[in-house]
Amino acid sequence: MYEKERNELIDSIIEKGIEDELVLNAMRKVERHLFVPDSVKHHSYRDSALPIGFGQTISQPFTVAYMTQAMELKPGSKVLEVGTGSGYQAAILYEMGMKVYSIERNVDIYNRTLKLFDKYSIRAATRCSDGTIGWNEFSPFDGIVVTAGGPSVPENLKKQLAINGKLVIPVGDKKSQTLHILTKIDEDKFETKKVPYFAFVPLIGKEGWKEK
Ligand code: SAH
Repeated sequence: MYEKERNELIDSIIEKGIEDELVLNAMRKVERHLFVPDSVKHHSYRDSALPIGFGQTISQPFTVAYMTQAMELKPGSKVLEVGTGSGYQAAILYEMGMKVYSIERNVDIYNRTLKLFDKYSIRAATRCSDGTIGWNEFSPFDGIVVTAGGPSVPENLKKQLAINGKLVIPVGDKKSQTLHILTKIDEDKFETKKVPYFAFVPLIGKEGWKEK
């Protein structure tokens, strides 16, 4: 279903500058409409974020592509995602052949998405907890992608990144953020590239925003 719309969306993402074939092929295969509520299904192949309930959103496809490309992954890489949400980003990573670890703090979203992973045989290790503290027992990760915006880069995530690994996280205030792409050069040595004008839901946790 929606194959034509999906291919048109991928073409528009290529026009916006995404060129990693591993990412693009996964986005051609994974059916985004399976990850959104019925009420917005007909908008699934617009390049925009959509509400998924509980005040949260599924990220804009271009943003998913951009963050995934920024991790420069090879098949078989170990990736930690903070903010499972709809499960779409995790499904893309799984389709790309990654070992996926994903953390979601909202128990309702977590349970719903777990069922979806089961239904579509998306294999990811999942956990319902505060992702700002990472998942130490499976570290180091070759890539870490945080799909909610925080006030700073969590120290735990920096620690759990492998040497040469990349951590992609939106940092800013609650309304708009700059995407930080960190490369771990050595223990305690990072190079950071910053890309402005992104907008994510808030990262809430010990090394994120405090819950009201
Ligand atoms: N990757 C998701 C994007 C979901 S929006 C997708 O593809 O749809 C971001 C998600 O991050 C929300 O579901 C929110 O509940 C979750 N979140 C916010 N702070 C978090 C934290 N500290 N740890 C884990 N998940 C968090």
